[in-house]
Amino acid sequence: MPTKADVVVIGAGAAGLFCGARIAEGGVSVLVIDHAKKPAEKVRISGGGRCNFTNIHTGPHAFLSDNPHFAKSALARYRPADFIARLDARGIGWHEKTLGQLFCDGRSGAIIDMLTGDLLAAGGQLALSTPITALDRTEDGFSIATRAGPVEARRLVVATGGLSIPKMGATGFAYDIARRFGHDVIDPRPALVPFVFEGRDKTDFASISGVSLPVRARFGDTVFDEAMLFTHRGLSGPAILQISSYWREGHPVAINLLPGNEAAAALKSAKAAHPKQSLATALESLLPKRLAGMLAARGDLPDIPRLADLSHDRIEALVRTLSDWMLKPAGTEGWRTAEVTAGGVDTAGLSSRSMESRTVPGLYFIGECVDVTGWLGGYNFQWAWASAQAAAADCREQ
Ligand code: FAD
Repeated sequence: MPTKADVVVIGAGAAGLFCGARIAEGGVSVLVIDHAKKPAEKVRISGGGRCNFTNIHTGPHAFLSDNPHFAKSALARYRPADFIARLDARGIGWHEKTLGQLFCDGRSGAIIDMLTGDLLAAGGQLALSTPITALDRTEDGFSIATRAGPVEARRLVVATGGLSIPKMGATGFAYDIARRFGHDVIDPRPALVPFVFEGRDKTDFASISGVSLPVRARFGDTVFDEAMLFTHRGLSGPAILQISSYWREGHPVAINLLPGNEAAAALKSAKAAHPKQSLATALESLLPKRLAGMLAARGDLPDIPRLADLSHDRIEALVRTLSDWMLKPAGTEGWRTAEVTAGGVDTAGLSSRSMESRTVPGLYFIGECVDVTGWLGGYNFQWAWASAQAAAADCREQ
């Protein structure tokens, strides 16, 4: 390991590797350090092993932050097309799956190979299995003590990610460093994470675990139209993961089980055509059978033997109930399964152009450790690339 580098990047994940490669490509000496044995393990497992590496609909609307404007500059200066061009230049195949989500045709390892290959080919260095033991400011930069020896750097980029999936080596390193250098940290919380329930809800949902259906999930004014999945512990699926990032403990979420359905009209015509039909049977055209059965058993459906006994007013009331099913999660599955961390290093202390600290020159925070959190669907990697590029461009200019 070198004892000096212009820039040290801590964290060889998506953001750190890409930042290191972009710095090295500018002819600036860079060392990327990670405590893990392998780089970018989250890239490896992402997107079910095929890495949903960007989203073509990327824009500030798809990110949560205390300052919703912060991400605009970096996202505008490094777009999905820029990363796609890098993959194309290396012949890494990709395809759009749904909702603008781009995945590798093959394994996500191709992206890790590209990132590490680009770093090393440009003369950058990578030190894995290298825990940091101390970090201090010096007159002209930073001194970093590691298990492999000390290294001096003029600039320091912190790219150690968030707290999700601790068994993959996630740490609060970035938050500790940020606080130590006088930055605020917005309370980190698990995001893109399944909900868990207690009591009757838990038992009922577990009884139909595996059932999924398209829903509209709502929290306040935020809505997502995607699939929801019942699980042994509660609710999951894209609609739930998305709304979980906005959810606050102790509050209910509203689930529309009949999104875009002309459900009332359908039930009224079923009543006219088959007055002897049971409500449960009629609902089978609108909802999965096991879900309708579970709702009936909970007493969430009117207890009537035949559709003929259901007045139009009760049909309207039933549809209103199923379109605004209010559920109060007991919590989330937490860091163990959260795909990302919401909150993080407060953007108020960072330059939106370069990700550099406003108070500690030469110190940068990029990627997931910053209080910028994307929706599900490739947005988090696009933030990793864009914030890394912003910091790298600044390091190359100096
Ligand atoms: P990370 O990729 O987490 O990298 C941080 C690095 O820092 C790691 O290598 C870690 O070992 C290292 N590190 C941590 N602490 C220390 C320390 N103290 N000292 C030294 N090194 C340290 N996003 C998408 O956009 N699309 C997807 O398809 C997608 N799928 C996902 C699937 C799963 C299961 C998970 C968990 C996440 C997924 N994400 C996805 C989110 C995405 O992986 C992250 O947003 C992204 O990896 C963040 O990049 P990062 O470089 O900031 O952090």
